[in-house]
Amino acid sequence: STPVHPFDLLAIDGLLTEEERDIRRTVRAAADRELRPHVAGWFEKGEIPARELARTLGGLGVLGMHLEGYGCAGTGSVAYGLACLELEAVDSGLRSLVSVQGSLAMYAIWKYGSEEQKQRWLPKMAAGEYIGCFGLTEPDAGSDPGAMRTNAKRDGSDWVLNGTKMWITNGSVADVAVVWARTEDGVRGFLVPAGTPGFSAPEITMKLSLRASVTSELVLEDVRLPADAMLPEARGLSGPLGCLNEARFGIVFGALGAARDCLETAISYARDRTVFARSLASYQLTQQKLADMAVELGKGMLLALHLGRLKDAGRITAEQISVGKLNNVREAIAIARECRTILGANGITLEYPVLRHANNLESVLTYEGTSEVHSLVIGKALTGEQAFR
Ligand code: FAD
Repeated sequence: STPVHPFDLLAIDGLLTEEERDIRRTVRAAADRELRPHVAGWFEKGEIPARELARTLGGLGVLGMHLEGYGCAGTGSVAYGLACLELEAVDSGLRSLVSVQGSLAMYAIWKYGSEEQKQRWLPKMAAGEYIGCFGLTEPDAGSDPGAMRTNAKRDGSDWVLNGTKMWITNGSVADVAVVWARTEDGVRGFLVPAGTPGFSAPEITMKLSLRASVTSELVLEDVRLPADAMLPEARGLSGPLGCLNEARFGIVFGALGAARDCLETAISYARDRTVFARSLASYQLTQQKLADMAVELGKGMLLALHLGRLKDAGRITAEQISVGKLNNVREAIAIARECRTILGANGITLEYPVLRHANNLESVLTYEGTSEVHSLVIGKALTGEQAFR
């Protein structure tokens, strides 16, 4: 009999609106046409044509697509999530470019910026003409951003920034860096244009994960900025954490894209591959693996959709986003690894996407709050006890 697609098993498509299905179809077609043919090569080289990619993604309308105004599409959260899913079905690195641009850098400016800052940066960022990055993590402050050392001091009406940020997606190719720094007044956000004297963004090389994504250090040595470089509406760590919630939401959907791509690859491989004179797909052990993965994929999708509907209703909480990020990334990486076994030796090559996805998901498991940190967030919600420190 004709096999059903893993997502059709639970008839999840019927829960989407016409507009959501249209956006998904458009992003999937463009991703398959313009990104998928090149991605293994980019991953192998550890290089992406970032400028060109940003323009392609801007043309597709996915940069800051869930924001209103300033050249952004203003779609609902589920449509944004589905776009992340389709991009991550190609590669988590490409979805990372979009997440950082739209949900971290643009969202920070959109939510906390002055009208001048919004006018200056957002339309060109939505079009992909400008690239943004978001510098929160430091060499010695990752899960605990409150331990950051980067500081901004007043000098007359100027600000002078010093410090180092680490693991910053899009850093070396960014036209503007949103940099979070300690001031006398608590943590504040600053917009640092590329080329500002004292500011550099060397690329981090020798990565084994997210190779189709630019990851950089940001070095700030007496970087002098005018008073209006500060984001006026962000005060304290709730500023950057508010942005992270946006990006995490995209990952709840996105990670399932990587998992779906792995599962589709494994199903098709198992049906074509003959072992012991029969199709690999005909063995019960294989079917058990495929069934378990399809069940988790379906559950993850229902969870993502539920969170999307809550978000659009303005009722989502940080703990709920933690549930989604923890579960969907954890299941996606388990699916990617299990699919790799079905492909045998072929599974270790870049001819197939599965180990590339599995390797990428190692980063996704760590960034935007590690799985341990999300467990602690949920633990705190359940017990009222804070176990972070
Ligand atoms: P640590 O915080 O040192 O954690 C190490 C381990 O300790 C982890 O397993 C962690 O879960 C665990 N741990 C931490 N606290 C506790 C605790 N209380 N109890 C038990 N276990 C604990 N950051 C940005 O600001 N911008 C970016 O654009 C960005 N892009 C990234 C891209 C990539 C490819 C990667 C890998 C990272 C990126 N990051 C970015 C950084 C990322 O957010 C951090 O790596 C992450 O927050 C974890 O910090 P850390 O690596 O310093 O690990």
